[in-house]
Amino acid sequence: MVLILLGAPGSGKGTQAKVLKDKLQVPHLSTGDMLRSAVASGNALGIQAKSFMDKGQLVPDSLVLDLLKERIELSDCAKGFILDGYPRNISQANSLEKVLTDANKIINNVIAIKVNDSDLIKRLTGRRTCKKCGTGFHVLFQPPKKEGICDSCGGELIQRQDDNEKVISERLIVYNQQTAPLLEYYNKKQILKTIDGNLNPEKVSSEILRTIGFTK
Ligand code: ADP
Ligand code: ZN
Repeated sequence: MVLILLGAPGSGKGTQAKVLKDKLQVPHLSTGDMLRSAVASGNALGIQAKSFMDKGQLVPDSLVLDLLKERIELSDCAKGFILDGYPRNISQANSLEKVLTDANKIINNVIAIKVNDSDLIKRLTGRRTCKKCGTGFHVLFQPPKKEGICDSCGGELIQRQDDNEKVISERLIVYNQQTAPLLEYYNKKQILKTIDGNLNPEKVSSEILRTIGFTK
């Protein structure tokens, strides 16, 4: 099962991927997370990627493709995976096709999560993440019991460096210019399914599961 989650920054791809990986029993591959951990580790790829990420621009395709290929080769991906944040432009979609063909896999579903632009900005500016366990919160929509502290582990809640208004607006521009054309690309292949991402997260999850025919 190869499932692609498509959607603007803040559309809830990461939130949904975490639910879906448990249901579908396949790993969640987030290129954003992979890149952030490369940046945190300070390796050569991370150093190169950081300047693009800080500006809200796409990291060069070849760097992301290397990361993705390495990850897909690990044994836990044998049964498939959920892609969150890849592909992000047509060239990446073409690269993905090649990688999957080589691995004897096909894309089973592409799920597009649609959310209004004004809501995206509200979601992104209020987003907080636990530094220790990665649990997500939102200052308005899903506040922690104690400000700045994770409900599940007591860790410190931090804001992602690119979740500030200036970088958010650049990320939305990049999405509309480079990523949104993938909707038509996958629609032509007849594997695109569109979900209303303005609903609450539980409803969005059940809609996705229903759409892909998962009944367990
Ligand atoms: P979001 O979808 O909320 O913007 P991500 O965590 O998916 O957040 O991505 C954060 C940043 O990482 C992007 O702005 C971009 O710089 C970089 N990035 C992630 N995935 C890719 C990709 N497939 N190609 C190029 N850059 C990427
Ligand atoms: Zn935590």
